Amino acid sequence: MSRYANTLTEAIMPYTPGEQPQDQQYVKLNTNESPFPPSEKAMEYAKENLRSLNLYPDPTAAELRSAVAMSCQSVREEVVLGNGSDELLYFAFKAFGSTRRPIVSADITYGCYPVFAAALGLPYEEVPLDEGFGICVDDYQDRHGVIVIANPNAPTGRALEMKEIDRLIASHPDDVIIVDEAYVDFGGTSVLPLTKKYDNLVVIQTFSKSRSMAGARLGFAVADRRLISDINKVRNSFNPYNINSMTMSLGLGTLKDRNYTYANCRTIEKNRKYTVEALTELGFKVLDSKANFIFATHPEIGGQELYVELKKRGVLVRHFDKERIRDYNRISIGTKEQMDALLEKLREILG
Ligand code: PMP
Repeated sequence: MSRYANTLTEAIMPYTPGEQPQDQQYVKLNTNESPFPPSEKAMEYAKENLRSLNLYPDPTAAELRSAVAMSCQSVREEVVLGNGSDELLYFAFKAFGSTRRPIVSADITYGCYPVFAAALGLPYEEVPLDEGFGICVDDYQDRHGVIVIANPNAPTGRALEMKEIDRLIASHPDDVIIVDEAYVDFGGTSVLPLTKKYDNLVVIQTFSKSRSMAGARLGFAVADRRLISDINKVRNSFNPYNINSMTMSLGLGTLKDRNYTYANCRTIEKNRKYTVEALTELGFKVLDSKANFIFATHPEIGGQELYVELKKRGVLVRHFDKERIRDYNRISIGTKEQMDALLEKLREILG
């Protein structure tokens, strides 16, 4: 840190993304990426549009917003796009959080929420998950502010039903509820329909996981048009060109090739089931996951030790050095071959 950093910068504890070591080829199961490339059709479409890179992108991203809206049974005015869904979470926190309206989320959830709150100088309140690592809506009854629910939650993979989220929103008419659906396409239920019913709900999704576009950085938020207009105000005061032209065309192409996305999600679900069964046979306890990752612990080996032993053998998983989840590892679901490589190494480690 330089001596010029201001107090807000001094206080920031940045998010640590999953490692991307370059020293050897790893079986990479640590950042919940899709193991499949983007849609061929989408890549072709994006290539055709490279010639217009001399021009700035459309700052309103009208065409892609319309396409996203159509895929969500919504309209363009109810959609805003972000450079990854992370950016939209940040914009929404900035638009709706205040010293009197804290960011409220689970104690075990996506690590960027507290980081973004701190960077924006917003108070952050944690609500503990229940014993089984589930979100209990009743625990939020007396909490107010900007309530952020990752559904399915990360890193647990556990999902809430729509009626529970409906109950949460109905009981908090003066709060903003953000539902982060980064992992919803792998067996969860989206609460997008509830954006018609409530004017205080923001649903955020991403192209990074189910749509194989993590490197292109594209996320979207759907909400009542007044909330979208607030988020847009923040976006336009930061970077009106936050979505570049290549990402826009890749996103449009991807939405045109929905069968490809759908098939990949079903493959991930199949591989998840296969992996959970094999891990259970090896003595692991695995939480019920509706995401493209699982959260697992073994009675005979600590989480950190297992992470290290796997890394030595060329398999990367994610370990969080945090009190309640120290014994667990988060394992992304990849191809069947990747999962077999993981299982082979686990059998070796566990003897
Ligand atoms: N929300 C959750 C719960 C996540 O795990 C992630 C990915 N790390 C994101 C949002 C952000 O994803 P992206 O910015 O790639 O859309």
